[in-house]
Amino acid sequence: MNAPFAATGRLHGMVAEIHARLQAVTEGAVATYIPALAAVPPELFGIAVLTADGAFAEAGDTRARFTIQSVSKPFTYALALDLLGRQAMRQAVGVQPMAEAFNALVLEPGRNRPFNPMVNAGAIAVAGQLCQALGATAFEQVRACLSAAAGRQLDLDEDVYRSEAETGHRNRALAHLLHGAGVFRVPAEEAVDLYFRQCALAVTARDLAVMGATMANIGTNPLTGAEVFGLDAVRDTLSVMFTCGLYDGAGDWICRVGVPAKSGVGGGLVAVVNRLLGIGVFSPRVDAAGNPVRGLRACEALAEDLGLHLFEAGNPGSRLLPLLAR
Ligand code: GLN
Repeated sequence: MNAPFAATGRLHGMVAEIHARLQAVTEGAVATYIPALAAVPPELFGIAVLTADGAFAEAGDTRARFTIQSVSKPFTYALALDLLGRQAMRQAVGVQPMAEAFNALVLEPGRNRPFNPMVNAGAIAVAGQLCQALGATAFEQVRACLSAAAGRQLDLDEDVYRSEAETGHRNRALAHLLHGAGVFRVPAEEAVDLYFRQCALAVTARDLAVMGATMANIGTNPLTGAEVFGLDAVRDTLSVMFTCGLYDGAGDWICRVGVPAKSGVGGGLVAVVNRLLGIGVFSPRVDAAGNPVRGLRACEALAEDLGLHLFEAGNPGSRLLPLLAR
């Protein structure tokens, strides 16, 4: 097991430089759709990187807590794939990018299932499947899984959960639409309650880097050695993160950054470089699509500096490897 968070000099310097450069960016706005999120200080900004072999670098507010929101979606999808298999999950939710907002009330045309698990309809479908398979322990098992990926026990932010549960009418409508379409058999209220809870788990940028590195390391947490996800689940999950993780901004993201990623309206962003590293960013100001502005820019800069784009000439991460050979 590697020493947790042992800083790596040159990678650390690069992350610190990107953080300093982007500190002044103030585009976007803190999400206000629930009162508890509107209270988050907009200036917070942290970047953390963990490699699959345990080297760590960070800058800024990497220990500030925020709610994971939609960054939970790839992890619950991977858990559901491991528990229920690809075939059952594909029946419940597709893998198609969707050109509409993350909370759109739409299903795939001609099929009674959501487009993909990275938008709300898809994530609520996954939550319904998990409730169906796990019964009353569903949330605790989701929490245990995400905690194993983060390498520490994650807590529920009760204020955000309550705020979301009191005001989440659109997500409730989605849950009823899905129940009506036969995507799951449990009551719509149960599925959407699990979704609200998973979104309200509190994490830090460090946690997201570890969770991303767990995906990069084919499902095994590089710090604790815990085997959290299976290979097939990781492969399917990274595939939909790549094409659908940034919602209607996904195509632009693939061209500019070119690695699987997932954003959340709480300001979190996780990016995964297969076999190499996880990136976690926290910056609460989000753009119109619900993606954290400085998070996008930080990943873009890291991808540029380290040669991370999947279709970069040479191997992905080719410029990273010599950097880490201290
Ligand atoms: N809890 C949020 C919602 O359902 C999550 C959305 C997001 O992070 N994009 O609206």
